[in-house]
Amino acid sequence: MAEQLNAFQMAQAQFDGVAKQLKLDPVIAEMLRWPMREFSFRIPVRMDDGSTRIFQGYRVQHNDARGPNKGGIRFHPNETLDTVRALATWMTWKCAVADIPLGGGKGGIIVDPATLSVGEKERLCRGWVQAMWRNIGPRLDVPAPDVGTTPQMMDWMMDEYSKLVGQYTPGVFTGKPLGGGGSEGRTEATGFGVTYCIREAMKHLKMDPSKSVAAIQGFGNVAQYAAIGFKEILGGKVACVACWDREDKTSYTFSHKDGVDPRFLLTITDQYGTIDKKKAKEAGYVIEDGSAWISKEADVLIPAALEGQVNGETVKKISSRVRLVAEGANGPCTPEADEFFKKNNIFNIPDFLCNSGGVTTSYFESVQNDMNFYWTKEEVLQRLDTKMTQAFHAVLEMSEKEKVYMRDAAYMVAISRVVKAMQLRGWA
Ligand code: GLU
Repeated sequence: MAEQLNAFQMAQAQFDGVAKQLKLDPVIAEMLRWPMREFSFRIPVRMDDGSTRIFQGYRVQHNDARGPNKGGIRFHPNETLDTVRALATWMTWKCAVADIPLGGGKGGIIVDPATLSVGEKERLCRGWVQAMWRNIGPRLDVPAPDVGTTPQMMDWMMDEYSKLVGQYTPGVFTGKPLGGGGSEGRTEATGFGVTYCIREAMKHLKMDPSKSVAAIQGFGNVAQYAAIGFKEILGGKVACVACWDREDKTSYTFSHKDGVDPRFLLTITDQYGTIDKKKAKEAGYVIEDGSAWISKEADVLIPAALEGQVNGETVKKISSRVRLVAEGANGPCTPEADEFFKKNNIFNIPDFLCNSGGVTTSYFESVQNDMNFYWTKEEVLQRLDTKMTQAFHAVLEMSEKEKVYMRDAAYMVAISRVVKAMQLRGWA
């Protein structure tokens, strides 16, 4: 199987394997291998120079048996219908494994947001909503931020939707900023959720977090708070972070002899996760090629950037010390990487379990929007910890009971819950 699958083929291949193990009814399996609804549309945007540019937008609603579709919107130059389909499918499993009453969806626009002015970004966000507003809503489909989108963008989108439907509807988008209908703790949620999973996995593996070293790929929202969580909540050392450099159009690995200080790096990182190299060098950081992160001496790898990064080639470079892989990104490890982990007895916390803290807190945000009553940060993070810990142990238990790899166990837990909802609703 040398040929690399695209993200959606990978999502389907993972599903097919588990559908077989679960002996799923073929009709249900056929329904779940494909999204229920897909939207593909053109968005005209008036640019600052007076010209009009047309952007390609998407929204894919994979399955809403357990509740309204839920999932982010990505602004990325390499977005395709298939990446959005894969990510929408993973959202269905993510919400099910986290045991929140939501389905799966994902959206996207083919664009590099860093090339747009603030006004152009706002008009593009509003354009996406003008194309989709009849098919989203608090009881229908609730988008959120993802790669290339920000809390501010969610507020513009929520505002556009509210204007179109004629009433303030904060629950239609989550990941909004504080003061704009957002929830405390949403910014930290995904990275801290990764941290809580690592904490539970380390207990299981009898690893001492305070003696552990992590190598992290990425320095966007997930990686930033996974790094902070690893250092501050678990007391471990972060050997490096790797990030995309917008200007050089390549990635770099940043390491420091005393370990990375993520709070300092945050002060020299722009809103797209690009770290200022000059300031990092002045502070004693060593800057290497973006691929260097994977071969660092570490006990834990946290790929928290994009899909397909740990693959048949790159996985061969990992240090023999690695015992745990915590997937902060969506789909960062390919099936070839999984084979390597299984052979080498490396414990994997699969993406849709590991990074489900973001959507879980999005769920808390929409609950607070519905109640029009807001919790403190401590309350939000405590509830998040409880949910993540329960989700982790449900998957671990399945993995031990069925003697299967963690990813397969997570699929088994998630798919069984979705199938149950489909059956109860009389869909199959
Ligand atoms: N984009 C995030 C994810 O992939 C969050 C989705 C959400 O909050 O709806 O999980």
